[in-house]
Amino acid sequence: MTTARDTGSFDYIIIGAGSAGCVLANRLTASGRHRVLLLEAGGRDNHFWIHVPLGYGKLFADAKVNWLYATEPEPDLDNRRIIQPRGKVLGGSSSINGLLYVRGQAADYDHWRQLGNTGWGFDDVLPYFRKAEDQERGADDYHGEGGPLSVSDVSEPHPLCEAFIAAAQQAGFPRNDDFNGATQEGVGYYQLTTRKGRRWSTARGYLKPALNRSNLKVVTDALATRIVFDGRRATGIEYRQGGALHRARANAEVILSGGAFNSPQLLQLSGVGPADLLRRHGIDVVADMAGVGSDLQDHYQVRMQYRCTEPITMNDVINSWRHRMGEGLRYFVSRKGLLTIGAGYAGAFLRTRPELATPDVQIHFLIFSADTAGAALHPFPGFMMSVCQLRPESRGFVHIKSADPAAAPAIQPRYLSDRFDCDTTVAGIKLLRGIMERPAIRRYIDTELVPGADCVSDADMLAYARATGTTVYHPTCTCRMGADAKAVVDTRLRVHGFEGLRVIDASIMPALVSGNTNAAAVMIGEKGADMILEDARAGTLAGAA
Ligand SMILES: Cc1cc2nc3c(=O)[nH]c(=O)nc-3n(C[C@H](O)[C@H](O)[C@H](O)COP(=O)(O)OP(=O)(O)OC[C@H]3O[C@@H](n4cnc5c(N)ncnc54)[C@H](O)[C@@H]3O)c2cc1C
Repeated sequence: MTTARDTGSFDYIIIGAGSAGCVLANRLTASGRHRVLLLEAGGRDNHFWIHVPLGYGKLFADAKVNWLYATEPEPDLDNRRIIQPRGKVLGGSSSINGLLYVRGQAADYDHWRQLGNTGWGFDDVLPYFRKAEDQERGADDYHGEGGPLSVSDVSEPHPLCEAFIAAAQQAGFPRNDDFNGATQEGVGYYQLTTRKGRRWSTARGYLKPALNRSNLKVVTDALATRIVFDGRRATGIEYRQGGALHRARANAEVILSGGAFNSPQLLQLSGVGPADLLRRHGIDVVADMAGVGSDLQDHYQVRMQYRCTEPITMNDVINSWRHRMGEGLRYFVSRKGLLTIGAGYAGAFLRTRPELATPDVQIHFLIFSADTAGAALHPFPGFMMSVCQLRPESRGFVHIKSADPAAAPAIQPRYLSDRFDCDTTVAGIKLLRGIMERPAIRRYIDTELVPGADCVSDADMLAYARATGTTVYHPTCTCRMGADAKAVVDTRLRVHGFEGLRVIDASIMPALVSGNTNAAAVMIGEKGADMILEDARAGTLAGAA
């Protein structure tokens, strides 16, 4: 057995410098009273394409910044494996994501509270969204100004987006210029986590301003391999860096911010998880907790693509070296243009049935087309959009496949395993086709490339969804907050039954929110930091209330 090198003691050890981890590192070190170790498996965020918004397309398959996970064969998707990119770099997934700033619906957080999570209703979390935000349009009842997370409008409108928005209005849906305002419903442009045309990850917004604090130590290229326990109290961690094993001690708390795949994985590797799974891999059971890694929820999207009648799409720019150079130059001079686009340009949150209280599908509209995410753009004018069901019923899991901390866990979201999800997805495809029939967009459509004219019946549409759909990259809920037998953390994000141990990242969501998940992960980081500091002031340890 290798002996670990002692790398000292800290008040708080944060595992993972992602969306939530960077928020924690900033907030916990601000007073200067607490010594914090922030550990990150990936490296510094100096990759060129991290900082150019459209560059996210180049990071899907780049092992320098990405864990490059994939699901197990999905039984309801014709046994396909679905790629699962995750940021492995300072900023975590906020450094490689599609930059869309969407919080979800007020009703999502009220639902969290209804599930018994006191303190997590919309009125409770809104102050944290506002605190985090530096909204380009200024502050109002829903938005904050002066916070570390820059949120900006798209740099300019585009005729195809205008056509899509107008067509949705012709189909009877309202225009909405703020999906994070009084209501989410409607069609309009997305806002992005950018500032002056550059990505605004949590590494950029939260960590960078804290880097010169003497009470913060950031260790990169360091893989946490095990939480160290003294009985039911977390006292430190072990990590591997540069081929050596290290041990760091935590006087107050160990905080897991490894994200929805890695946080449950590390708990399981440390003996906290389903006992039979742990025993199968020769891991001593510290606590038999069936909920660790269960209830995985993710958004699933189905793409529809159109050949465009006019050469005004991004395909036409990217496929011409002259236009490409022009766009590059424009970006470097004015920070405008195609290089500032995120994973959706325009979008919509719509109800597939009028009797619903809130939207149940999200649309991402893009001015380019390609066979798969990150693939070469089509050699002809094209555009695409995707439909995604917002509140899936399908549940999956994350389970270690080996006791080796460097081995990827088994990930199985079980997309479309619930009939309700299938029906909503099919309803979403029909709804989109209805919009595409409207005159405002009709003039730009030469052909529907996929699903195409042969896809007619509900069964055809479902078969298409199963054969071609993919993730929207929103895995959550694998260390769910709650008080039931499978809940992993309580409402102060303390792991049930333990002292000095919290999970603070997207994995604690009790249910997936109706939108993209970065804003919510940042909010969770902000609220989690506040609770830790409150407990520190009161002299209470995590779990010892
Ligand atoms: C390709 C892609 C596109 C997306 N698009 C959007 C979008 O447009 N809008 C949006 O709102 N959301 C989007 N998301 C989702 C959003 O970015 C995530 O939900 C959010 O970043 C999750 O935050 P987190 O703190 O839970 O985890 P992460 O940000 O993933 O952070 C976890 C960190 O922990 C580190 N880590 C993990 N295990 C260990 C270990 N054992 N030791 C040390 N370090 C470890 C990881 O390397 C990582 O840096 C996207 C995600 C991806 C991957």
